[in-house]
Amino acid sequence: MNKNLRKAVIAGNWKMNMDRKGAEKLINELKPIAADKTCGVVICVPYTDLETALRLTEGTNIAVGAENCHFKKSGAFTGEIAADMLKEMGVEYVIIGHSERRQYFAETDLTVNRRVKAALAAGLKVILCVGEMLSEREDGITEDVVELQTVAAFTGISAEDAKNVIIAYEPVWAIGTGKTATAEQAEEVCAFIRGVVAKRYDQAIADGMTIQYGGSMNEKNAAELLAKENIDGGLIGGASLVAEKFGVLLAEASK
Ligand code: PEP
Repeated sequence: MNKNLRKAVIAGNWKMNMDRKGAEKLINELKPIAADKTCGVVICVPYTDLETALRLTEGTNIAVGAENCHFKKSGAFTGEIAADMLKEMGVEYVIIGHSERRQYFAETDLTVNRRVKAALAAGLKVILCVGEMLSEREDGITEDVVELQTVAAFTGISAEDAKNVIIAYEPVWAIGTGKTATAEQAEEVCAFIRGVVAKRYDQAIADGMTIQYGGSMNEKNAAELLAKENIDGGLIGGASLVAEKFGVLLAEASK
């Protein structure tokens, strides 16, 4: 059993939700709930909430993340934010390769890899999302898809830098749909991804890597998912927007 070799991390992904007032309210509710929890606690928020989140979480056990970053350091990329800009603000984490970016914003395995490299070079920790579409699961190619995405994302990343990456396994068909992968399905793919990391680096790196499940994880199904050997926390969308619900997940991951 290697579960105790790595830290469980619960990360909220607020997506395009919460204006500054909403962010302030949610974080103030979350602070006392999170205070005694032993798992890692991260909130990934819209760019416009970063300053609020950083100010309100100062001196707490809540880390702040962004939801994307660009791979260039600066330049003519209207609407984009560089990894160094996030780092300079005090941001600690960044989500890269979320399926919504892949589906709606032309994110590819190549651009994911470039963003991962840029984020790590800037000193950010990466939450790298991988996961199959429903049609890919039905075609029996889930493992091929997540292996390709994982290997591509880690191309050119040293073993030392890989330690600053969390992988979030997020079956696309389970995101925001209310359909959760069964604990067995999630465990199977998380274990497979750990094997891919072991092949790419070594067993020690794989054993130490936090691999989250994401996809409609909530206060009702979290206990069963988080009890699995290869599931080290979660990337949470909907349930991260309600402090009490997020709190249940933090408590489960801290057991
Ligand atoms: C996500 O946005 O990464 C996610 C898992 O969303 P939800 O929990 O709402 O399915």
